[in-house]
Amino acid sequence: MRRIRSKDTLPELMLRREMHRLGLRFRCHSKDLPGKPDIVFRRKRVAVLVHGCFWHQHLGCIEASRPQTNSKYWSPKLARNVERDLKIEYALRNLGFETVILWECEIERDVSRAADLVKRAVERRNPALSSKGQDTLFIYSNKRSTSLSTESTRTTDRVILNRRGAAR
Ligand SMILES: [Zn+2]
Repeated sequence: MRRIRSKDTLPELMLRREMHRLGLRFRCHSKDLPGKPDIVFRRKRVAVLVHGCFWHQHLGCIEASRPQTNSKYWSPKLARNVERDLKIEYALRNLGFETVILWECEIERDVSRAADLVKRAVERRNPALSSKGQDTLFIYSNKRSTSLSTESTRTTDRVILNRRGAAR
């Protein structure tokens, strides 16, 4: 599938620099994960997706609704992008990842807040989940993805099914 997000955009670079400053270490553009998340914390299983406001249709954002010369062409295309984003988030969560969606305009407005949001998401992940990686058949997180605008932080991560159980 063609990649709709462009790699290493300025907001993304700003965010990565700020996250480094906070002492966070992560991988970028993990090709083996759905949607090639921009920033990935493997052990903690947190995936950060930096979304361009126009391509991913940031709701209520001026960048998302800038005038289009050929709306017959763009409308379905953008709708497909949004639908694809949802599928990617769902697939990542099914793999046990918490997804953090950051919009480019929000990063540009306050990069330290955006980086802090990621830091908190990483910190509240239970390390026990990942150290048992070998035994983990399926981790389901029904937590909604975190975003700056809807900052609900209810943690309801749960369910680890251990196939091998005590036999190990
Ligand atoms: Zn925006």
